[in-house]
Amino acid sequence: MEQRRRGRPVGPVKADPGDYRNRYSRHYYAHRDELNAKKRLAYQERRAKGLCVRCLRKALHGIVFCRTHAPPHKPVIQKILRL
Ligand SMILES: [Zn+2]
Repeated sequence: MEQRRRGRPVGPVKADPGDYRNRYSRHYYAHRDELNAKKRLAYQERRAKGLCVRCLRKALHGIVFCRTHAPPHKPVIQKILRL
């Protein structure tokens, strides 16, 4: 049995639908660069406007998250600074 491909495929995207888990996966790999560019642009726009990058509420001062999304992020920062 052929082993399933993991992560980013190397080389040009194949047209064979059997290569992908489902049609959504196939669509993702066919339009990956375009989709990632859109995501990156949206992130940059939200950040520039001072909005939360996850939910469009107003972000807290100095970070890219709102009051709701900042607490889960905080322990990660503290852990990084301790090391
Ligand atoms: Zn948020």
